[in-house]
Amino acid sequence: MRPCGLCVLGATGSIGRSTLDVVARHPRRHRVLALTANRDVDGLYELCRRHRPRYAVLADPASARRLEERLGQEGLPIEVLAGVEGLLRVAALPEVDAVMAAIVGAAGLPPALAAVRAGKRVLLANKEALVMAGALFMREVRAHGALLLPIDSEHNAIFQCLPADFSPGRRPAGVRRILLTASGGPFRDTPPEQLERVTPEQACAHPNWDMGRKISVDSATMMNKGLEVIEACWLFDLPAEQVQVVVHPQSVIHSMVDYVDGSVLAQLGNPDMRTPIAHALAWPERIDSGVEPLDLFAVGRLDFRAPDPDRFPCLALAYRAWREGGTAPAILNAANEVAVQAFLDGRLGFTAIAAVIEACLDGLDPRPVEDLDGLLEADAEARRLAEARIAEMAQRSVS
Ligand code: NAD
Ligand code: MG
Repeated sequence: MRPCGLCVLGATGSIGRSTLDVVARHPRRHRVLALTANRDVDGLYELCRRHRPRYAVLADPASARRLEERLGQEGLPIEVLAGVEGLLRVAALPEVDAVMAAIVGAAGLPPALAAVRAGKRVLLANKEALVMAGALFMREVRAHGALLLPIDSEHNAIFQCLPADFSPGRRPAGVRRILLTASGGPFRDTPPEQLERVTPEQACAHPNWDMGRKISVDSATMMNKGLEVIEACWLFDLPAEQVQVVVHPQSVIHSMVDYVDGSVLAQLGNPDMRTPIAHALAWPERIDSGVEPLDLFAVGRLDFRAPDPDRFPCLALAYRAWREGGTAPAILNAANEVAVQAFLDGRLGFTAIAAVIEACLDGLDPRPVEDLDGLLEADAEARRLAEARIAEMAQRSVS
């Protein structure tokens, strides 16, 4: 069997590193051809030494020059590329069979779309790409015969609970609802009046999953679940009313499919992203992921409850953006990215994240989605408005 040529977009991140961990367990199955990151020269340099790709890309050109120098001193024959052009190129290389799309945020959309347009096997972790551009993305998947496999643990679980001939973007037969599980994040039981003062460190200390900082804050606000509802609507071609969020603190059931005959199928496992990554890398085969077997006696019990809309207003904002359609989800996503970054930088309070997003949804009219440029324009407009709102809030708190 010829090894599968792999490109890992966002290789230095949490998903990127978990992917390389699984890949390293199966050296004959995969050949790492391209690794990319934003500006982490040291991180990408180390990964290049270990995995010996043919290409390394840093989005930041100055960082790319530094990486090129270091790899040159070491005598490693790795071609270094820079910028968005570099990302687009490696995502579509003819010798690449599979692309792990694990860049965080809207920045991941153009290279993920390039992989789709090149007809690759696309392992999609970058949920923001689908939230922003679902209609366009799914249209291109169909047009170019790409194989889209969800990495987000919930969507991967649902995919596993659907019939073997299911392919993303088509409505599965006989499904009543999807039950999307949510841990509830670190503030599941925090009294609402204390949320105003929580710190980035508290927000990033997720009880069950070890993840990048942006998605950790999204989990704490439950915007992550809001983004995932939209992601599920696109992947499984269902209206949002057929996607129900279920808070399940143990994160052992990764999601469920409720069929019209009353059967509910669930996928269970330890909360470790190497399971969905290994599933999507090998699909339809199964390979070892390095994840410990699930010990149900240690888990003991599985609890479920409804999400609290007062504590987590971001969830309702995501349903609203989905209902409004067009560029509204792109506006939601961009405003959220800006607000989360401001929170992480200490410029915005935790509860103000939802207020900034709501102000952007109120202040910008959604337009129909025509193409990528239109989406990027809506994204840029929402970022400007979000920054302006954050500056106003800071001004008000000083005066
Ligand atoms: P992370 O912050 O750990 O890593 C992000 C990666 O993207 C890094 O390699 C970084 O260098 C790169 N990157 C950031 N900005 C970039 C830019 N402008 N241009 C090019 N590259 C850039 O994030 P993560 O936790 O690995 O999450 C990655 C994606 O996977 C996110 O969309 C997240 O929602 C999704 N996801 C993550 C998890 C998880 O457990 N971490 C689970 C489900 C889904
Ligand atoms: Mg998830």
